[in-house]
Amino acid sequence: MRRITNRPIGDAPSDDAPEPLDVPWIDVHQHTQSLTWNDREAFDLSGGQATVMIAAGYYWAPYRPVSADDVRFLWDDALRRAACFDHRHFYDQYVAVGVHTWAGVEGSEELLAVLPDYCEDDRVVAIGETGIESTHHTSRWGLDDQRTVVGEQFHIARETGLPVLVHTPGSSKGGLLAQYSHSYEEANESFTEPLLDPETAKTDAVEIDLELVDEAGLRDERVVIDHASPEIVPLVLETTDCYLSFSVSAPWLRGFDPADVAEVIEEYGADRIMLDTDLIGAMQHDAFAMKRTIMDLCRLGVDREEIRTVVYENPRRVLGLGD
Ligand SMILES: [Zn+2]
Repeated sequence: MRRITNRPIGDAPSDDAPEPLDVPWIDVHQHTQSLTWNDREAFDLSGGQATVMIAAGYYWAPYRPVSADDVRFLWDDALRRAACFDHRHFYDQYVAVGVHTWAGVEGSEELLAVLPDYCEDDRVVAIGETGIESTHHTSRWGLDDQRTVVGEQFHIARETGLPVLVHTPGSSKGGLLAQYSHSYEEANESFTEPLLDPETAKTDAVEIDLELVDEAGLRDERVVIDHASPEIVPLVLETTDCYLSFSVSAPWLRGFDPADVAEVIEEYGADRIMLDTDLIGAMQHDAFAMKRTIMDLCRLGVDREEIRTVVYENPRRVLGLGD
């Protein structure tokens, strides 16, 4: 290489020319209705092709305990907003509809009765988020009742052919949860006592979810076990054919970092791994979380094709987009 400087400038770490970072991505899980125009513009700016808005955002339910009518309002509101978002932005806005278990819902059977009708809407591409939870906002939901409401949604997923996004409890690994809970507006004071041992709640909940998947006769390929952490990786990737998704916007809540994701891709391949953001306006968040994680994975040496599989091809296949 020809040098024209007068003073020594040293050698660059590598002669490899940087490639442009043009990896497209699809976010299968975010609470888009709680974000801002600026956040959604960040998706446009950073390669976002499509996002899925989780319709049941109880965090903003106007009354507690949550009633079926509150949830129905949130579903309708999500569908109405989605139409506004995608004609002002440059990614496609889809919706997931379901009964979330993060607060007890009174009269949830009314919701389950109309859920199949909502699944007919062109914009609805998944059921969820739902799944066994250990702690709840304000109103506890016992495990037996959760089994019923989660299992019934798995049945509806099987009947409608839609994939299901399975929420799993937070991970308090390393004490990060306590350290960062101040950055979640709804945190702590309104939480109920845990139903499961906090040390093993995530694994215990996933085991129940997987039983319910089997009972419903739902194919594993239609199931996304979400909010992954290293502790459930072997359970999901070695004993099932489900997808496993890491929610990248709040590592302190989920108990993993990009190096953990890189390790999982290296060990198991990219075919059943996904990333989503779980971005939520009630929590400190970064609208560029997906793009920054893509960059981190590149820096960690993960092959770009594998990254593209994880953030774009797998979500596209699961959601049935672009077929
Ligand atoms: Zn969740």
